[in-house]
Amino acid sequence: MTGIATQLVHHAYRPPAGFEAPQVAVHKASTVYFPDVAALRTREWKQKEGYTYGLHGTPTTFVLEERLATLEGGLQCLLAPSGLSAIALVDLALLKTGDEVLIPHNAYGPGLAFAQAELAAYGIGHRLYDAMDADDLRAKLSERTRLVWVEAAGSVSMEFPDLQGLVRACRERPGVAVALDNTWGAGLAFDAFDLGDGLAVDASVHALTKYPSGGGDVLMGSVVTRDEALHLRIKLAHMRLGLGVGANDAELVLRALPSIDLRYRAHDATARELARWLQSRPEVAAVLHPALPGSPGHDHWRKTCGARDLAAGLFSIVFASDIDQPAIDRFCDGLRRFRIGFSWGGPCSLVVPYDMASMRDAATARWPHAGGLVRFSIGLEAAADLIGDLRQSLDAMRAAGAG
Ligand SMILES: *Cc1c(COP(=O)(O)O)cnc(C)c1O
Repeated sequence: MTGIATQLVHHAYRPPAGFEAPQVAVHKASTVYFPDVAALRTREWKQKEGYTYGLHGTPTTFVLEERLATLEGGLQCLLAPSGLSAIALVDLALLKTGDEVLIPHNAYGPGLAFAQAELAAYGIGHRLYDAMDADDLRAKLSERTRLVWVEAAGSVSMEFPDLQGLVRACRERPGVAVALDNTWGAGLAFDAFDLGDGLAVDASVHALTKYPSGGGDVLMGSVVTRDEALHLRIKLAHMRLGLGVGANDAELVLRALPSIDLRYRAHDATARELARWLQSRPEVAAVLHPALPGSPGHDHWRKTCGARDLAAGLFSIVFASDIDQPAIDRFCDGLRRFRIGFSWGGPCSLVVPYDMASMRDAATARWPHAGGLVRFSIGLEAAADLIGDLRQSLDAMRAAGAG
């Protein structure tokens, strides 16, 4: 089968006649003219048979949707103004009052916050399940469950779940849709629509803000599916909510897609080098990176991603318990190449300290570490420069008398 990089570089595009350039044009419009009233009355926007209104799609957004569907191994794609709005879109499209959604204990936080605020206000229940325990998910599935979120690896704490086991548990109950937050895997580390043993997720949500953009300069999200009826359900909600993306932003993502495979591998290689180096430091009690033996869910990562041997350039460390939070804050402040800031997938390496105890529901899955946690997002700098930066800030933290 043709490699994904080749598929994305040579993806079909129909340029204007006589203008055989591979780059996709930026089409901007709210109004689209119809030749006559009959065309206005009959042109069908839902099946992409024609253009009707800017919000319903342009030649630029249609090409981006097609390429993202290719990237993720799906058939249909919808674009949203952010990854978070894509998560909210799936919730709103598939849930109604009285239903329940199950969310992994280590899910992307703002998606959970949406369930706790808006979904709760609409009478839609949510429950957390232990992402590392398919039996816990099985036990929490009920007559009310209509949607189950899965995420691999988990946000911040980076546990890699048994995706097959989680999806299998959901398949035991008809009428339950499985949606994956696929931002970490980016369509590259594993195939969400072919997890093995005939298992697949129903919808894959991707924060294009991260690797597809690659520049740290775009906010966008997508929902990829392989089922026309499910796609149409989400698409109708998408239309009624008035979600759309700007043509310039769509073009930025189109420009970055041909290099996503290269960039993902570069982020991955540097991240693993840094993660292994940090394992040797006495200040570090644990390195949480699913591709590293000993990390939570490493065996699941090997089963799901081992053949491609790929992981996102993202990992966390837990400091030794005698290093207090002010010292950890000093370590973050003392970094020069790493900048302090949210998000990932861009060229610049980033660091964020997290208070894990406040992010965990102890009844679902207790946080097992005593020391403070810091998450690194690895950019495109040279690994040696980043290691030098980590070393100088760890040494300075110790010299200042940490713990
Ligand atoms: C960043 C992120 C999102 C949200 O994306 P935004 O475009 O920032 O809204 C969702 N899920 C995961 C796992 C993310 O990392």
